[in-house]
Amino acid sequence: MPQMPYVKPCDADAAVVGGGLVGIAAAIAIAKAGLKVIHLAPVGPVDRRTSALMMPSVDFLRSTSLIDDPSRLGHRLSEIRIIDATNRLLRSPETLFEAGESGLEAFGWNFANQRLLEQFQQRAAELPNLETRPLDVTEFAYGPDQPELTLADGSVLQVPLVVGADGKKSLIRAAAGFRARENGFTQAALVCDLELGRPLGGCSVEFHYPQGPFTLVPAGNNRANLVWIDDREVLRQAQAGGAEQLVPILLNKSQRLFGSITLATPAHVFPLSTISVDRAGSRGVVLVGEAAHAFPPIGAQGLNLGLRDVADLATALQAGSTSTPLWAEKVSFDYAQRRAADLARTGGMVDALFRSLLAEMVPAQALRSAGLWALKLLPSLRQRAFSLGMGQR
Ligand SMILES: Cc1cc2nc3c(=O)[nH]c(=O)nc-3n(C[C@H](O)[C@H](O)[C@H](O)COP(=O)(O)OP(=O)(O)OC[C@H]3O[C@@H](n4cnc5c(N)ncnc54)[C@H](O)[C@@H]3O)c2cc1C
Repeated sequence: MPQMPYVKPCDADAAVVGGGLVGIAAAIAIAKAGLKVIHLAPVGPVDRRTSALMMPSVDFLRSTSLIDDPSRLGHRLSEIRIIDATNRLLRSPETLFEAGESGLEAFGWNFANQRLLEQFQQRAAELPNLETRPLDVTEFAYGPDQPELTLADGSVLQVPLVVGADGKKSLIRAAAGFRARENGFTQAALVCDLELGRPLGGCSVEFHYPQGPFTLVPAGNNRANLVWIDDREVLRQAQAGGAEQLVPILLNKSQRLFGSITLATPAHVFPLSTISVDRAGSRGVVLVGEAAHAFPPIGAQGLNLGLRDVADLATALQAGSTSTPLWAEKVSFDYAQRRAADLARTGGMVDALFRSLLAEMVPAQALRSAGLWALKLLPSLRQRAFSLGMGQR
């Protein structure tokens, strides 16, 4: 009788590396596709960020039962107000975008990342084919039959499909040989919660300063989530001065439009960078979330894009069959094809927006100003901008 080649049995169908929001959403999606999945999610520091999720992302979370009623977890975003706070020669008009104009109840919802994470963790715990291990991956290698992951306790996992959801400094991206382009910025983002004298209602207010936007996002009652982008050193100094020094700066930056300000949480500073990859999947490995793409938090795109990665991964799994040979390689190839256009379009849009906000050159300022005038005056263009910003496909 001819000898069958020996194939070592695998530990699961898939492993997801990284316990951030995108990693856990991916692990749940894979388990719901009927595969056995191991989620490697070391316990990290509390995620202090908040995320404005556009309606298509909220609909995705609801349709996959990751959340039910968004009002139980987050705050509705029904208006976006843009205020040009520069002293430039060519200033843009103040512009108010209202969701109602497009017949929408809201552009999206604003969530604290930690609350979403806890909700996702509850959902994950309900799935018998999803096992969570609080362990770091220390090594990745392409084994003779399938990818191999070495874990922090020295154990080795062999799985046909590996999902790298391990963030900006992704070990999986580097070790699996994905080509990536990275760009650091001198700007950073300062994040904290504020109590304002007057409520924002459902309106997210963006003050556009020459060094970057200063954005107040509604977080219920008089609370706002602040995302302030500026030079890293300016932010570090503002943070180091404590509430005494920070509050007067914030009052000034918010043009005192919302009355008094008190800090409701400590301020955190996040460095900013861009990361993009040539392909998001290959040889049984796929990259999701910030392992595949990162950019400054302008136009609220990062997590929205990460959830679209998860949606496309679920579609690629449904389209293939895990009983055929090399199924994981086919899924990774299919996933990369599905993600290519969206990753290029969204990355390009955020990059152009960020550069136009910081542009010192008068022609670039003129373009941005003309763009905002056009958006203000032309309803059809505004509709197109809405659907692009919301990531509608
Ligand atoms: C200030 C700020 C505001 C933002 N606002 C918005 C917004 O309004 N809307 C929006 O859509 N997006 C927003 N974003 C972007 C959004 O927060 C991110 O895109 C998203 O949270 C990334 O999730 P992730 O799971 O891909 O990565 P991460 O949250 O970075 O998770 C990666 C995980 O991988 C783990 N890990 C790393 N290495 C390993 C390893 N070797 N083994 C195992 N685990 C590992 C880490 O511990 C971590 O838990 C914002 C970002 C910032 C900085």
